[in-house]
Amino acid sequence: QAKQHGKNNFQIFSYSKDITSYKKYVLEKDMRKAIDKQEFELYYQPQVETNTGVIRGAEALIRWHHAEWGLVSPGEFIPLAEENHLINHIGDWVIQKVCSQLREWKDNGYSLRPISINVSPIRFMKKGLVDLVKTELEKHNIPAKYLEIEITESSLLKNEKNVLAALEGLKSLGVKIAIDDFGTGYASLNYLREFDADTIKIDQIFIQNITADNKKDTAIISSVLHLAKGLEMKVIAEGVEEYEQLEFLKQNECDEIQGYLFSKPVPLDTYEQMLQTGYIKPTKPKVNAIPED
Ligand code: C2E
Ligand code: MG
Ligand code: MG
Ligand code: MG
Repeated sequence: QAKQHGKNNFQIFSYSKDITSYKKYVLEKDMRKAIDKQEFELYYQPQVETNTGVIRGAEALIRWHHAEWGLVSPGEFIPLAEENHLINHIGDWVIQKVCSQLREWKDNGYSLRPISINVSPIRFMKKGLVDLVKTELEKHNIPAKYLEIEITESSLLKNEKNVLAALEGLKSLGVKIAIDDFGTGYASLNYLREFDADTIKIDQIFIQNITADNKKDTAIISSVLHLAKGLEMKVIAEGVEEYEQLEFLKQNECDEIQGYLFSKPVPLDTYEQMLQTGYIKPTKPKVNAIPED
């Protein structure tokens, strides 16, 4: 009986392992055609002013509607796309999509608010990023300041010469630069000073620990906030889910909030409804809500 049980466990384990590698295989195979099949969609997660909930902008986050697997999260397919370099193709689609979306908003009478996009370090290392951004902004006649490019702290730390050159190029276009997942890559303070980004996004790990009454994490957050103020950088706290976290961030004068307490990433039409109101009231996300979207 015990032996039988053990055998079953082994079967379950190897079955799920096969599922994982099968899924990986299918996703990788289908990724090439996904753009043409219009399976990618951008969701928007509002970034709001801490004290008022007024919408200041949003981060564009990619979603993949896969015929077999349904909604696939970027956490699952972006790493695959980075491995096989299809991320360049996908990333360029995101840039084009956001620029044409900004034009559409302008044409439809919305007062423009900046959109942040995530650009993979793989794309940063390849030539042509600055030219593409320039071309797309010009094509849609959008002032560069409405586009913000997020790069993770850890990819900045690699100090790749192409990455730094591309960042300089983007900055001279007038595009904003944000350091994403700040605090997870161990950048030195001196690095921050030299680098001169516009925005720091504090990683959600630090924010989530505010409730745990974690003295070390709250000390890190308040010193990042003070440092950023001195450097005249904007700070966005990511992953805010609790009123207690919001209160702490208000007291420490964090500029903006991006988190489920205000809104999850939402499809275009929902974001447009939010823009019409112009601000969002904090509401605690439901405990058993589906984690994705
Ligand atoms: P990220 O750039 O750090 O984006 C923030 C992630 O945190 C998003 O996950 C968002 O849904 C999630 N988030 C925001 N607020 C909360 C909260 O209050 N609680 C919790 N638990 N999560 C929150 P998402 O959309 O699944 O994206 C995951 C990552 O995938 C992104 O992390 C980014 O690194 C990558 N990604 C997404 N879209 C793109 C894209 O277009 N291009 C590239 N290269 N990477 C992307
Ligand atoms: Mg991001
Ligand atoms: Mg982040
Ligand atoms: Mg992240």
